[in-house]
Amino acid sequence: MIYLDNAATTRMTQTAIQAMLPYFDQQYGNPSSLYAFGQQANEALTDARERIARHLNCQARELIFTSGGSEADNQAIRSAAAFGARKGKRHIISTAFEHHAVLHTLARLEKEGFEVTLLDVHEDGLIQPQQVAQAIRPDTCLVTVMYANNEIGTIQPIGEIGKICREKGVPFHTDAVQAVGHLNVDVQADCIDMLSLSAHKFHGPKGIGALYVRRGVPIAPLIEGGAQERGLRAGTENLPAIMGMAAALDEAYQNLQSNTQKLITLRDRLIDGLARIPHSILNGDAQKRLPGNVSFCFEGIEGEALLLLLDDKGVCASSGSACTSGSLDPSHVLLAIGRPHEIAHGSLRLTLSHENTQQEVDQTIAAVAEVVDYLRGISPVWRDLELGKLKFVI
Ligand SMILES: *Cc1c(COP(=O)(O)O)cnc(C)c1O
Repeated sequence: MIYLDNAATTRMTQTAIQAMLPYFDQQYGNPSSLYAFGQQANEALTDARERIARHLNCQARELIFTSGGSEADNQAIRSAAAFGARKGKRHIISTAFEHHAVLHTLARLEKEGFEVTLLDVHEDGLIQPQQVAQAIRPDTCLVTVMYANNEIGTIQPIGEIGKICREKGVPFHTDAVQAVGHLNVDVQADCIDMLSLSAHKFHGPKGIGALYVRRGVPIAPLIEGGAQERGLRAGTENLPAIMGMAAALDEAYQNLQSNTQKLITLRDRLIDGLARIPHSILNGDAQKRLPGNVSFCFEGIEGEALLLLLDDKGVCASSGSACTSGSLDPSHVLLAIGRPHEIAHGSLRLTLSHENTQQEVDQTIAAVAEVVDYLRGISPVWRDLELGKLKFVI
């Protein structure tokens, strides 16, 4: 099997697995218990929090552990909306190509009376900082723009957007689930007020993540109950997962430079190979993209069929985000960058990890070329395109 869906989830590293194990059956105390056995667990929790904070250049007390990226996004947005509403500010700015954890939360808030401006995304998959500046109004209570897109991999000018928001006094949240562990992230340098991350996107365990909230930025809990996470997220801490997340993040940043170089080499080889398939187009800027992201559209192809046939050849790929798979609607991200419906339907996302090899990349290029050729051969649409009855778009 060739696993090329690392934006959906990643394989845990042995280091991360080993870091979790003692907390299941040896150090299984509750960090909130007062006896020494519980306090040992609490010390581990503190240590993990400090290590994670160092990687983001924030303080340990500015982190809230959550069940993952979705929960962190929900909490950041709902909280900013609630505090905004108290001051009569009910306008939120975001983008058309956010993850559904953001978009669906915003849609819910719209029904509750908030006004949401979704910025258009340029064809290169990038938001211009000026767009944010122009959209900010006196009643804007939040700007939320993702750090790197999960489908097309484009990396947004987060520092510039952060600076604009800081100058105008508007809280700025970023869904950095695809960035943390893959890019250097510095919440202070980038003027970020809130940031979401998730462990299973950087070779840690599933079901654990964190929300960074800058000191002084108001935040409310989504989940009420015990006083864990300074009263901001109730529920006994998932200590094994938190230890696994800290270990995975340590490892990711220890190896960041070498992994990045390796990934860019593999990514660009994959892009060059797929670009040789006629009537294909890369989605998103070729340079300002995640080191492991390759996203293409092929004319005259149904993405679903492409995925199934690639699966037969042992290649795990995606048409876009894991969340939209199974529905027949084309990706909202590809529509947002202006791909027409029929082109957006023929999408393929391949996301690499440092564990992939050049041989796997070459096998994948050959497999995609073969499957695209086969599908076009049996497609009536393709025949019409070749006969000139339909016009090629790409
Ligand atoms: C995966 C992902 C999420 C959701 O994270 P979970 O931990 O799976 O809830 C949110 N945003 C982006 C950009 C993602 O890629």
